[in-house]
Amino acid sequence: MKKPIFTDFGERLILNFVNTVQSFRGKTIDLIDSPSAVIGWLGYMEQRGQISSMQYERLLEDNSWDLPLLGEFRRRVREFVEDSSPTNILHFAAYLAETMSHSPLTFTVVANPKTLHWDLVPLPQCGGALGLLSVLSYNGMQMITTDALKRVKKCDNPTCLAYFVNNSGKRKWCSMETCGNRRKSFRHYQRYHPRN
Ligand SMILES: [Zn+2]
Repeated sequence: MKKPIFTDFGERLILNFVNTVQSFRGKTIDLIDSPSAVIGWLGYMEQRGQISSMQYERLLEDNSWDLPLLGEFRRRVREFVEDSSPTNILHFAAYLAETMSHSPLTFTVVANPKTLHWDLVPLPQCGGALGLLSVLSYNGMQMITTDALKRVKKCDNPTCLAYFVNNSGKRKWCSMETCGNRRKSFRHYQRYHPRN
């Protein structure tokens, strides 16, 4: 597998956040283990259109990045996507609402020059970790209240930790470059080097 890098194949901001923990050579790597790494991830999410420039600027207004708090949130989200039964949905939604209450959101509408539509942009009251958790919680609530949750899937590579929304219903791997080709070459190897 390639060296861990930021990814945006989750199809949802909150899943991209979950995917900041990756498995690499048998070890679990946290890609946002420092404040500068969190800011780097936010920059990447903005570049990929997963957060808007307004959100990015708001989040950077406060430079308090409570890493254990972010890590705990990420752990809770992972636990939830592993088992999103109706009871867990209720618990998780309550957890998101509570998390969001520490930096409530206000909403603004901006023109999107790419889609030529108007976008609803949730802006947290303050930036830093609390603001980020509010933006992520809102994204999580959207995931719960749309069809996306039913399509959340773990990568078929058993050693990969990635989650994504399987929009086509046919997607097996987080990305073709990492897990997809790896599984294919493994099968190719098995075919031409059969065991007894
Ligand atoms: Zn994968």
